[in-house]
Amino acid sequence: MEKLWSLKELYSSIEGEDFKHDFNEIKTIMTELGTYVNKEKNDQVLHNYLVKTNELNDLIEKVYCFVNLQMNVDTTNQEIIKLYNQIGDLLASFAEDSAKLSRWVGEFDLDQIQDPYCLEHLYILKEMKDVNKYLLSDQSEALLAKMKMTGSSAWQQYKDQLISGLTVTIDEKEYPLTEVLNMAYSKDADERKKAYYAEVDAYKSIENGVASALNAIKGEALTVTEMRGYDSVLQRTLIDSRMTQKTLDVLIKTMQKACPLFQDFYKLKAKKLGYSNGLPWYDMYANLSNAKSDYTYEEAALFIEKQFSSFSETLGQYARNAVEKNWVDVEPRAGKVGGAFCSNLHSIKESRFLLNFGGDISDVITMAHELGHGFHGHCLNEEYSLNAQYPMPIAETASTFCETIVKKAAIKEGTNEEKCLILENELSDSSQVIVDIYSRFLFESRFFEKRKDGPLSVEEIKELMVEAQKEAYGDGLDHNVLHPYMWTWKPHYYEADYAFYNFPYAFGLLLAKGLYGMYLKEGASFAKKYEQFLSLTGKNDLVDVAKSVGIDLEDESFWQNSIDMIKQDLNEYYQLVETMS
Ligand SMILES: [Zn+2]
Repeated sequence: MEKLWSLKELYSSIEGEDFKHDFNEIKTIMTELGTYVNKEKNDQVLHNYLVKTNELNDLIEKVYCFVNLQMNVDTTNQEIIKLYNQIGDLLASFAEDSAKLSRWVGEFDLDQIQDPYCLEHLYILKEMKDVNKYLLSDQSEALLAKMKMTGSSAWQQYKDQLISGLTVTIDEKEYPLTEVLNMAYSKDADERKKAYYAEVDAYKSIENGVASALNAIKGEALTVTEMRGYDSVLQRTLIDSRMTQKTLDVLIKTMQKACPLFQDFYKLKAKKLGYSNGLPWYDMYANLSNAKSDYTYEEAALFIEKQFSSFSETLGQYARNAVEKNWVDVEPRAGKVGGAFCSNLHSIKESRFLLNFGGDISDVITMAHELGHGFHGHCLNEEYSLNAQYPMPIAETASTFCETIVKKAAIKEGTNEEKCLILENELSDSSQVIVDIYSRFLFESRFFEKRKDGPLSVEEIKELMVEAQKEAYGDGLDHNVLHPYMWTWKPHYYEADYAFYNFPYAFGLLLAKGLYGMYLKEGASFAKKYEQFLSLTGKNDLVDVAKSVGIDLEDESFWQNSIDMIKQDLNEYYQLVETMS
């Protein structure tokens, strides 16, 4: 029987009175909040404003998730799509008032606040005040919000249409792009190679359209950040990420220094697969081990629960509860999106997980990953909604941490073949997060520089991409078989309001490794500290969140320690490969 998630904890249906009530309630609260800018500025008024805003956030999340979750398992349902767009319009309609309210909050003397409830929100209030200096006039804000719908948002939709409509022809048969991208993980060498060449060839039919979208979205990002008075697009991302430039600098430097480690990994793989000129792009995910794993969903759930419990009873119980209460939509089916995600529902203190569970060990690890996101949400459930919104770079930390717990256990319990396979996948993933992310950071930095002088041609964009890949992958990969089109289907380049959506992945991975290293040293007592750490992520700068567990993010040696842990995995992998051949 198919395992579907239960959404009745949110609402009865989109036709239900409960849903309609809350949808209208959002409008009511928005209208009420709009009147606050005319109110006197005192603690009581600010207190009420925060209560209302928390209430609004929870309601929006509840209504939005109810519709969004259904859309993800039923992508062609027109009724849901229409509703989804209505919610988008409703939120956009609040942009002008929201800007006014930010300015209004900015006029409070935050040092004079006495009210305990207000004081609990001090971080977020100060942040609002800080960001105020980048706000434009009310009229300009309203105009920007509206123009974005026909600007970057429209371009993003257009790009999505091009990519999702793209078919790839292999041996005279047509495949959707997503299916062809999955072939990179095929056990069949011939299929991997054919898929790669067909994929690269297919982009030619849409490259002009996608390049126009990229030029437009990045152009808008440059215009808007300049108008708002930021030094650069990167500075805006850092401020939004609650992260210091120093942290980014040491992180990028550590990544750059770590690239040769992974180049050696690729070189070894190339040699084993019979290449003399570095690994071709299409064999990046080829496995040297032939181990096969086969888990039912129930087995995966039990395995995860057991391993999570070895870290802490709370974490194990969390996983069991998620499975028992039907928070997970398990199998792939027609009309459901690919991939996996977690949606935290602060309003009802639960989460929902979308999987496309296929029974491989990688599916088990993905499940652990998503449950990790859920547990992060769980640790924030007692916080007010305003204090529960964490910035992008910390978003992948809890997920990677839980992934690590399960991987380490699977390696411990597996045969040599299985160990080798898991380590290999783990190292491939880490390499993507360090090496490929480094190439994407280089690409995006250079793209922005050039975009200041006008739109780039398809050829120029491809050249920038390949250049960045050469630098990051070095002689680990065959320079004649790189991927000049990596900017087309990766959605991250097309987020107009959050540029450089790349380094947060490396931040998350290496921070999770660092935390895991602490757990190894401190044992069971670390679990409480870890939960406390996660509960702080919504109301502090990243530097201070890390400080709560004694980590200094601006110290290069912290990041280097995490790389050293990966180095240990590399050595273990090399030994295994030797014993097996
Ligand atoms: Zn994730």
